[in-house]
Amino acid sequence: MYYSLISSSIAGVDALPVMVEADVGSGMPSFSIVGFVSSQVREAQDRVKTALKNLGVSLPPQRVTINLSPGDVRKDGTRFDLPIAAAVLAALGRIEKSVLKDTMLIGELHLDGRVHSVTGVLPSVILAEKMGCRVCVVPRANRSEAELVEGITIIGIESLEDLLAYCRGEELTVKEEKSESAEDEYTVDFQDICGQEMVKRAAVITASGFHNLLLSGPPGSGKSMTARRIPTILPPLTQEEELEISKIYSIAGLLNDNMPLRKTRPYRAPHYSVTAAGLCGGGKYPQPREVTLSHRGVLFLDELPEMRRETMEMLRQPLEDRAIILSRNGGTFRFPAMFILVGAMNPCPCGFFPDRNKCNCSYTEIRSYRNRVSKAMMDRMDLRCEVKAVSYNELTGKACQGESSESMRKKVVAAVDIQKERYRNEKITYNSELNAPMIGKYCETTDQGKSLLRSAFEKLGLSARGYHRLIKVSRTIADLERDELICEAHISEALCFRCGN
Ligand SMILES: [Zn+2]
Repeated sequence: MYYSLISSSIAGVDALPVMVEADVGSGMPSFSIVGFVSSQVREAQDRVKTALKNLGVSLPPQRVTINLSPGDVRKDGTRFDLPIAAAVLAALGRIEKSVLKDTMLIGELHLDGRVHSVTGVLPSVILAEKMGCRVCVVPRANRSEAELVEGITIIGIESLEDLLAYCRGEELTVKEEKSESAEDEYTVDFQDICGQEMVKRAAVITASGFHNLLLSGPPGSGKSMTARRIPTILPPLTQEEELEISKIYSIAGLLNDNMPLRKTRPYRAPHYSVTAAGLCGGGKYPQPREVTLSHRGVLFLDELPEMRRETMEMLRQPLEDRAIILSRNGGTFRFPAMFILVGAMNPCPCGFFPDRNKCNCSYTEIRSYRNRVSKAMMDRMDLRCEVKAVSYNELTGKACQGESSESMRKKVVAAVDIQKERYRNEKITYNSELNAPMIGKYCETTDQGKSLLRSAFEKLGLSARGYHRLIKVSRTIADLERDELICEAHISEALCFRCGN
């Protein structure tokens, strides 16, 4: 008695097909699971046996063998419980064999037969649809996430009994819960920030070219307030991007029933004590971590000098490649990591320099504090902006109606549209993605501009990377002014932000 059905495994940010085979045959009574599986998958045998027993199905005194193929894909997690149970039921003749044809199943089992939610349902359903499956059977709790995919029937089940009922052709009673997406709008706005015109200008440039930004200023001056609002001025996500981000959050287990589709750009702000693995990913089974959870949004790192050097250095690779590559014995996984890095730091250990009424830090202390951020990291900060403590007048004055996110976003979208058009034949969207040959091609500069660049390069002792980043920011400023030619004024503004701090 043999049966096989389709399930899926997660590798990186995508799902791979997995065939679940069950064979019930003569031999010593046993239950074994083979096929390059983790110990967690192997434990499925206890959950499945007990869940089946509680369903009133006792296994015959025979040898039960489960094989998960292909054998070269490492399988992990509890998502195979449900397909294993279903394959056994079909092999025992408890389920009509034709019913589960062209059907993908995923789900975890409780001992009493209830089906528990799993992560990574969205990418699995996308895969099922691509493979031409008719139906996908998922845990009820994951149904709204699964239903984001069109062209495939989703059956949400709560228990193995539901599965049997579905296979008998019975209509499942579905409690219609509301599911209005909670996260389709931003809850913050740049309007909440008074004054700080320089900072807002820096935010617009950062967002327009997807550049990195370093904010420096005393505690309470609004560094994190600023960072948090940058996603609100980035262009709205396309449908494709919404699905891409939702897939990542599905795998990380951060989607819920109320929030099946991510319509807003991510904002992640891990504490400075975050480990290199927490930031970039590690462990035996790579999962999306902070750099990937920030994909297409903002990664905010406060108190940059407090961060461990090795953790900070881990960021260099994703910042260059816009993705993170992790090799494990189960294969090589690529996680996208196209984010805007916003760093923040105090100007000195106490935070109040240059206000000497409050700050007693010595120049040596200040220098060593700032040097904790490596030069290589500093080099990657395209714009550096000082955030001043807001004056009482600015805070309370009538003029305290800051520019709104909507108005700032209009400028950003116009500048991004120019870039999209310019780079339509390249594989890039933003100025920050330009490589050296592209800079030569797309960053034409006036003669005065060139001489300013030359003197800046010499006087500031810029590295080649720093020099290129300066030109890319100038390109973005020119795009904001709708100028095809980069001129002196654009470069001097970029320089101003490069040298700030
Ligand atoms: Zn100080």
